[in-house]
This record gives sequence, structure tokens and C-alpha cells, in this order.
Amino acid sequence: MILISGMEAQICEMCVEKAQEIIDQELKRHGDGPDAAAKTGKSKYSGPARLIPPREIKAFLDDYIIGQDEAKKVLAVAVYNHYKRLEQLSKPGAGQDDVELEKSNVLFVGQTGTGKTLLAKTIAKLLHVPFAIVDATVFTEAGYVGEDVESILARLLQVCDYDVQAAERGIVYIDEIDKIARKQDNPSITRDVSGEGVQQAMLKMLEGAEVLVPPQGGRKHPEQKLLKVNTQNILFICGGAFDGIEKIVARRVNTQVIGYTKPQEVEIDRENLLQYISHQDIKHYGLIPELVGRLPVVVHLDPLDLDVLRQILTKPRNALLRQYRKLFELEGIDLEFKPEAIDFIAQKALEYKLGARGLRSLCEAILTDAMFDLPAAKKSSKRLVVDHAYAASKLERSRVGRLKAA
Ligand code: ADP
Repeated sequence: MILISGMEAQICEMCVEKAQEIIDQELKRHGDGPDAAAKTGKSKYSGPARLIPPREIKAFLDDYIIGQDEAKKVLAVAVYNHYKRLEQLSKPGAGQDDVELEKSNVLFVGQTGTGKTLLAKTIAKLLHVPFAIVDATVFTEAGYVGEDVESILARLLQVCDYDVQAAERGIVYIDEIDKIARKQDNPSITRDVSGEGVQQAMLKMLEGAEVLVPPQGGRKHPEQKLLKVNTQNILFICGGAFDGIEKIVARRVNTQVIGYTKPQEVEIDRENLLQYISHQDIKHYGLIPELVGRLPVVVHLDPLDLDVLRQILTKPRNALLRQYRKLFELEGIDLEFKPEAIDFIAQKALEYKLGARGLRSLCEAILTDAMFDLPAAKKSSKRLVVDHAYAASKLERSRVGRLKAA
């Protein structure tokens, strides 16, 4: 018998085991503890999911995201098909049929600030499966400073309280996938620890394998118990800006036009070359062919033009200007933006090449003074009208306004 001694008493191994059983039972009863769901096998995602038709999914996305119709459609279909596969798999006798539905992971390509992450986040609101967003830039090959790719699954497990079964049907959005592209002019003296090696590791996961996941997600807790997660039915959506890929597309499109078709028949929109993107271009950019092959659906996001930027300011359900109106309303102040001011902000965002992400910085720059002064002002100034002159003068004096000169 083993006796463990404390300060004033001792406890035997049998009592330790009994105590552990009691603790497990209690945790199961209350449904808490870090891996309660893993023990009970239940989480809020355990029930059957409602199948939402693609049109309905797109209509939902339309409320929050302006334009990007193709990306919305592709995402809606991918998610719908994902549910269908899951439904088919859960039916009795599944797998006896010869036809096996394979999943279609998705790759979004679009400049920064065009709504890739927003699409992923918005769809997450609608879903009844666990959904996690991760950033590919944090990963490195095992043994280097950074995170292992397995931590992607740890994130998914955290979302569903360690309900492994639910995680195995989840969706993962991997942002900045272009940042793990093979470095083309990588000097041999430095190892490419965040490039190809990470792609190889990611490939295993995308292919559908049983992966041992450290639930706390990292190298910092080497003693933790590993959970086995099968990734075969996890849908992976990847997104990246792929800076400079237009050149690769242009080169390919040009040679094709000369090689196979009469030039006059094809009119190429040189302003938006991303719309012609193909798997070949992604490979050229530096993703390994096996990984590209595991992302069968490639879809582009359109660059944002003046009109879209203007709409982003006012139209979506939680549009920026609506948010500011609300913020001012809470102070009892009526905020109004004249159309000319909206045009001005959109124009500046375009000029500074900040994408939609720049809209918020511009609005902050224009409204900071008002947000600072108005709450303490007398009753008389309970209304603020932002016109072109007001917006231009506030921006001129702000940090963002000076950006242009830099
Ligand atoms: P990225 O493509 O770099 O992932 P994000 O999705 O993070 O860009 O977009 C940044 C911000 O810009 C979002 O939070 C959102 O407010 C706004 N935005 C970008 N594109 C759109 C769009 N098409 N419709 C509405 N808002 C958008």
C-alpha cells in the first residue's frame, strides 16, 4: 500500500482513487470543469443541426456584408453541403452505399480588408456546429518558437467545451494562409520553419487524419493528456490576401490568350485580375500542390470600390455610421452625416488604400473631438451635423489626415 503524507495526516492510494471518482461524478453532475463535455459527451452542439438552404444562408450574409456575391454563394453552398454530409453520415447504414460524399474545403483570395474574416465570423453566428478562427502566422514547425498546427483543433475543442464528437463535425477558418507560402528566395542558411514545414503539417490535418491534440493547445503544458480528434469531417475554410498574386495571374492569362484563343474574343478586366485566379496560380505563389489539392474550391473577393465603401458605411445591420449614431444617442446627441461627408470618407479610404478597415480610423479621426467635448457641453449643442467641411477640417488636423503626406 502506498501512503501519501501531508502536513498532519496520511492518505492511502485507495482513498485517493475513491476521492477522484467522487470528484468525477460531481463534475459530471454539474456539467462543469474543463473537460466536462468530454466526459459527458454533451455540449450545446450535440443536438441535430437544422439544415439551412444556401439561399437562406446568403440572405443572412447579405444583412452584414456588402457585395462579394460570389464568395457568399460559394460559402453558403460549402456550408450547406457540409451539413448534408454530416446528416448522411449520421443515418443508420451510412457508409454502405458506394457513393461517399467528400468535403470541399474552401480557399478565399482577396485583398486585405475586403471582408474575408467578416464572412467567416458572420456565418459562425448562424451555425450549429463548433466554429473556430485561427491565424496561420503563429504556426511554426515543431521544435521552434511558435505554435503547432494541432492547436487549431485545440481551439475548436475549446469552443465546444471539449466535446470531441462535436468538434469532429466543426468548421475552422484559417486566416492568412498565404503567409505560410514557401519563401521563394529563401537563403539556404535560414530554415523555412514557418513555411513549407507548416504546410506539410497542415496537410495531414486537411487530409483527414486522427490527430492527437493537447487540449490546452500548446508546448507550454507538456504534461497534459492528449485528446484524439478525427479531422475527416471537419470543414476547413482558408483565407489570404496573396499579395502580388495578380502578377502571376496576369502572366498566365496573357499566355493563354496568345496560346489558345483569338485575342479579340477575350476581354480581360485588368482592374480585377483576381477573378481569374486558379489553383495553378496559388501553387506558383508557394503553396505546395498537395495542400492546394485539398482546397478544391477557390473563390476571389472583389476589391472594394467607392460605391461599396459608401454602402459599407451605412447599410449593413451594424454599419459604422449606425454604431456612431447609437454611441452619440446614448449621450442624448443627434448625429447626422451629410451624404457629401459620406462620399468624402469613402474617397479617403480609397485614396489611403486602407480598404474597409480604414473607414473606422477615418470616422474616429473625424469624431474624436466631438466625442471628447460634447458630453460635457451645454444643452444647446445636442445635435451634430457632419458635412464635408467639418469632416475635412477634422481629418486635416488628425494623425490619420497626416498619413497621406507620409
Ligand atoms: P479581411 O479580408 O482582411 O479579412 P475583414 O473581414 O477583417 O478583412 O474586414 C475588415 C473590416 O472591414 C470588417 O470588420 C468590416 O467592418 C469591414 N468590411 C470589409 N469588407 C466588407 C464588406 N464587404 N461589407 C461590409 N463590411 C466590410
